[in-house]
Amino acid sequence: MSTPTGPSDVVWDVTYACPLRCVHCYSESGRRPARQLSHDEMLRVADAIISLRPQSVEFAGGEPLLVRGLIEVAGRIRAAGVAVNCYTGGWTLDRRSAEEVTRVFSRITVSVDGASAEVHDRIRGRAGSFERAMNALAVLDGLSRERVAAGLGPVEFGVDYAVLRSNLHQLEEFCGTVAPRFPHLRFLAFAAAVPAGLASREGFAEHELLDFDRLRELVSGVERLRSLAPRSVRVTASDNMILMMHPNLLKRYGFPLLQVEPDGEVRAMPMYEGTVGSLLTEDAGTLWRRAVDRWSDPLVVEALSAVRSMEDWSEATRRIDRHFGTEEDRRRIDRRPPYTSGARVSSLVP
Ligand code: SF4
Repeated sequence: MSTPTGPSDVVWDVTYACPLRCVHCYSESGRRPARQLSHDEMLRVADAIISLRPQSVEFAGGEPLLVRGLIEVAGRIRAAGVAVNCYTGGWTLDRRSAEEVTRVFSRITVSVDGASAEVHDRIRGRAGSFERAMNALAVLDGLSRERVAAGLGPVEFGVDYAVLRSNLHQLEEFCGTVAPRFPHLRFLAFAAAVPAGLASREGFAEHELLDFDRLRELVSGVERLRSLAPRSVRVTASDNMILMMHPNLLKRYGFPLLQVEPDGEVRAMPMYEGTVGSLLTEDAGTLWRRAVDRWSDPLVVEALSAVRSMEDWSEATRRIDRHFGTEEDRRRIDRRPPYTSGARVSSLVP
């Protein structure tokens, strides 16, 4: 496998704090310490990321909009010529924060996991989260309309829809009835959930992850979804199989993605537990090369080569996470309750 000289894309989970409690959360946010850096330390991590010369940086989490000073940190990266994108659950996004966010971020993605409050709120673990996400989209839509009327470019905003078995039946409804509510919506990304973080716990694959047949149907059904959505919306559907990082896929495509934890630690493999060092204390290029090497670790190759189903992939994830995670990671993994269908929405609404 030829080693890419650097990541083309960096995902920086800037906090593990989150107001939502999604059943599939890959980073287990809201249930663990936020591990946020001070503002000065965040700027140092930003400089280290810039030194890798990626094309884009995804600000994710947790909920990135909870991080004070986020705009300055993202602005520093953008000023270096790197696109900065923001992923939000939309819970806190109001007109004032939307104006700030749209000034610095190249693209804003709101996570919406259903076409109704009943489905979305159950998955997102908090009553009222669908309404908040709809409000966030309406605010972004209004800003975009004003910008276009003023002769400026539109706001590049859209929706990321994590596809699970319990929301699969609402994809068409989302395209046909929810998307048209936001005339300036730019994109709609349907992406199958993968067995990472809470989505890798016992029972989740059996109840919620799409099996390989459903994954094929998701991808082959994208034209039907496009035909239902407004013509101005770019609709994509991904099975996310590249994230399995099967050695054969890696040989073919490489995997040009680096994931950074809130405290500056670099994950060896995106979506899996285990880090290779901190951007605050070591050279970024050295950490990147160390991360690339993990792809060919014998345990990783053996675990992922044996995958024949989503249940297998979940088991491989648990094996890799337990092997490469810290003691603290293992304790957190052991505390995860097995998933049972019909989980109830929490009553956290203030
Ligand atoms: S909004 Fe995102 S970070 Fe927060 S719990 Fe849900 S998936 Fe996790």
